Amino acid sequence: MEFRDLSKYFEKMEATTKRLELTDLLSQLFNESTPDEIDKIAYLTQGRLAPFYEPIEIGMAEKMVEQALSRAYGIERDQVGALATKLGDWGKVAAELNQKSNFKNQSFSVEEVHNKLLEIALTTGAGSVEKKISALSDLLKLVDYLSARYLVRIPLGTMRLGIGDPTVLDALSHAKAGDKSLRPILEEAYNKTSDLGLVSKTFWSGGVDGVKKVKVVVGKPIRPQLTERLPDPKSVVDKLGEVAVEPKYDGFRVQIHFNKHKSIGFMTSDGELKETNVKIFSRNLEDMSHMFPELAASALSDVKAEEAILDGEAIAYNPLSGEFLPFQETTKRRRKHNIAQSAKDLPLKAFIFDCLYYQGEDLMGKTYRERRALVGQIVKSDTLVPADQIITSSTKELEDFLADKIQAGLEGVVVKKLDTPYQAGSRNFNWVKLKRHNAGELNDTVDCVLLGYIFGTGKRTDFGVGALLAGVYDKEKDEFVSLCKIGTGLTDEEFREIRKRSERFARTNKPARVNSNIVPSVWLEPKIVIEVLADEITRSPVHTAGKIADEPGYALRFPRLVNFRSDDKRPEDATTVDEIISLYSQQYKK
Ligand code: AMP
Repeated sequence: MEFRDLSKYFEKMEATTKRLELTDLLSQLFNESTPDEIDKIAYLTQGRLAPFYEPIEIGMAEKMVEQALSRAYGIERDQVGALATKLGDWGKVAAELNQKSNFKNQSFSVEEVHNKLLEIALTTGAGSVEKKISALSDLLKLVDYLSARYLVRIPLGTMRLGIGDPTVLDALSHAKAGDKSLRPILEEAYNKTSDLGLVSKTFWSGGVDGVKKVKVVVGKPIRPQLTERLPDPKSVVDKLGEVAVEPKYDGFRVQIHFNKHKSIGFMTSDGELKETNVKIFSRNLEDMSHMFPELAASALSDVKAEEAILDGEAIAYNPLSGEFLPFQETTKRRRKHNIAQSAKDLPLKAFIFDCLYYQGEDLMGKTYRERRALVGQIVKSDTLVPADQIITSSTKELEDFLADKIQAGLEGVVVKKLDTPYQAGSRNFNWVKLKRHNAGELNDTVDCVLLGYIFGTGKRTDFGVGALLAGVYDKEKDEFVSLCKIGTGLTDEEFREIRKRSERFARTNKPARVNSNIVPSVWLEPKIVIEVLADEITRSPVHTAGKIADEPGYALRFPRLVNFRSDDKRPEDATTVDEIISLYSQQYKK
């Protein structure tokens, strides 16, 4: 396929925010693609060159793009800048300048363009800024105006076609089957590898059978198994029977991949891309390999395996007293700079509770009992520690263990069914979290996505925010729906922090994939995840979470901000509408 034809599809996709139309367009596009290019098309459609977990970024700031445009079309930089201010979008600037100055319309295949952009991305080190600018400008010179529009948006990360991963999976299914029926099979392969390019390529070359055979790969993150909620120990024992009970460590999830003898992919270190033997992924599957050198080193030197994938929770501790630190401290380790110093000040331990791959074998189908037993055999060091655990079917023992952990300052426990496989990306009753219980109150926090802010009156306007409009994820429809307005209870500092974090996501029009009847003063791209505590869930005519036709939706009563979670949760990892409905029905059972 030619890049200019791909650009025509992008243009059509840009013109709609309706998910069905997007799926339809995308499935037409896929049907025109060959197995050799479909992976690249899947990445480019989401504004990327590689799966999202690869640290491969083109890395061009607006100033660099401005220079590339100036050079390509022979216009002074300040004029290019002025046009950008006028049009408010670099893609439009590129298209306009191209139309005015350029009558070339050379054809490039999608693969050629992908390759050139990849070269730009892999150019690092001394002189790389100049090389990137001239490579982009050489390309811009030769293409038509639509291609130019997207060639500029991809490096800037402003594609924003609103195509989430579920839409890509639906479109693949539609392209081959005419409906969504193949989505579960595709999703299973995706959950194991998180790589839409790999899934689409395998599907195109090997069909459904090929997709069914997709296995876990060391270096490609597995979507983590998630926990369900139950209100109290008795309901856990009634529903699950004999279980493993572990402390719920309050740190962040780490999935550690390693192969002691060969490279398993790239990592960034001091701005350079390097081959690596260890990769560490966060819960939202971001590559954090360079941030936690002590965990990486311990995986390579202490774990008794040549290659493995481990799942666990990392917590920082005080190096003097050995005491574990609260989440707010631990989360300071998710930083890109001063890593050596912060590893000294806030060293990490990771409690390992699962092993998903060992010595060439995919262990996802084995039972938790077997996987956990292996952890006990191969993990043993001061840095990587097998998670604490009891096995019981007694409500009393579970209550005591929970009380003990709460006493020790932990959030609660995670209870796991012993005879179940690892179900990547699923939230089900194989794993259940149990926290301190207060009858009648919502006993857990909800992870919300910010959808906008509403300007207030009075003092708060100094900071530009009055209240926040927050929502949750509707997995079925792949959209974000409103659940609450958070106003009171935020400190001035929190308001400032929110303003700072959200500035670059502010939009004047409702972003794609957002569904809200409340119109905030400023919309926000659904990117920022916050943890919210509330008194209860109520039915609400104004919010769109769980709203069907004229029936009311759901809302949080007295919501308040507990933490920012964007570091470890993607917007799609926020609480889902289904979870809200199940929390609603659980809350007064006691
Ligand atoms: P939540 O994020 O509230 O849904 O709780 C699930 C999270 O608890 C997991 O994603 C882990 O990061 C964390 N966690 C802490 N301890 C454990 C454990 N022993 N087993 C599984 N998950 C744990």
